[in-house]
Amino acid sequence: MTTDNGRRTIAYVFPIYNEAGNIDLLHRMVTEVTKPLVERYDVSFIYIDDGSKDDSVAHLHAVADADDRVTVIELARNFGHQMAVTAGLDAVDADAVIIMDSDLQDPPRVSLELIEKWEQGYEVVYAQRRSRQDSAFKKFTASAFYWFLRKVASIDIPPNTGDFRLIDRKVVDELRRFRERDRFLRGLVSSIGFRQTGVLFDRDERHAGQTGYPLSKMLRFAADGILGFSVAPLKLISRMGYLISFLSFLGILYVAAVKLFAPETAVPGWAFITVGMFFLGGIQISMLGVLGSYVGRTYAQTQGRPLYTVGAVRTGLRTRDDASRESYVP
Ligand code: UDP
Ligand code: MG
Repeated sequence: MTTDNGRRTIAYVFPIYNEAGNIDLLHRMVTEVTKPLVERYDVSFIYIDDGSKDDSVAHLHAVADADDRVTVIELARNFGHQMAVTAGLDAVDADAVIIMDSDLQDPPRVSLELIEKWEQGYEVVYAQRRSRQDSAFKKFTASAFYWFLRKVASIDIPPNTGDFRLIDRKVVDELRRFRERDRFLRGLVSSIGFRQTGVLFDRDERHAGQTGYPLSKMLRFAADGILGFSVAPLKLISRMGYLISFLSFLGILYVAAVKLFAPETAVPGWAFITVGMFFLGGIQISMLGVLGSYVGRTYAQTQGRPLYTVGAVRTGLRTRDDASRESYVP
């Protein structure tokens, strides 16, 4: 909300899961970093506790006691990072929202650069890692995943980005219309469009505590990315069906040739059974592919995503004559 005094508002959204060792330092750092902003903007902070099992909530309350710009939202249990961020985006009311991890892997000072780009007119400014202090395994799996996603999915996610980004109110409003359960926010933001750009930064190591993304969660997250934006796995069935049908056809030719030219080597009944098996196998998988095509469409429909996003509407200057005409409101 642009406040009464006409100043623009910026809100930071922090998902928190077992970050007791980071919260105090994080808040001190963002307070410090945003000091120069306070002259021009109204800055606020939303912390979403995602069912932490340590004393994160107590730390958050202490932070809120000392700073009236802080809002703490406590989810009833652990819903996962993407849901926690979603809860923050649903609650926020600001002209620009900055989403950041709470373990100080995303350096708070970089948010100033995001804001600069926003001021230049970009509606999505993602922070792009120039380098990252993660294990070789994580680096490798992440780059393999994004390579694959770009290959199969209908979205173009910039490489080396996480959820650390600034999004304009327009994009937040649009994101709120995406109510699918299995959420892959960075994909949704990419697919929404508007003017997007990146800012390079060096990603630090987690300050304290442990990752909330063990391998199992990471795999599920990767599946959300691929399944949420692509029906390629379903299409794969059709392709396999065609391939197997083709091979079956070759098999049938072979069986027929044996039957005709070398009948003494063929066991009675063999040709009939073999031809039937190949033929049915090919047909079955092809038909599964047909089902897959419909399932894919049904899936896309049940995701219930908005069909399109209007970026801006401009009408010509009104004259006295057409003043009564309704203007177009999307
Ligand atoms: N997080 C969350 N809920 C979860 C797991 C993580 O809100 O179930 C938060 C966590 O507190 C952090 C951010 O999501 O602010 C990223 O998590 P983490 O740093 O553990 O992931 P990594 O950087 O290891 O991929
Ligand atoms: Mg982290």
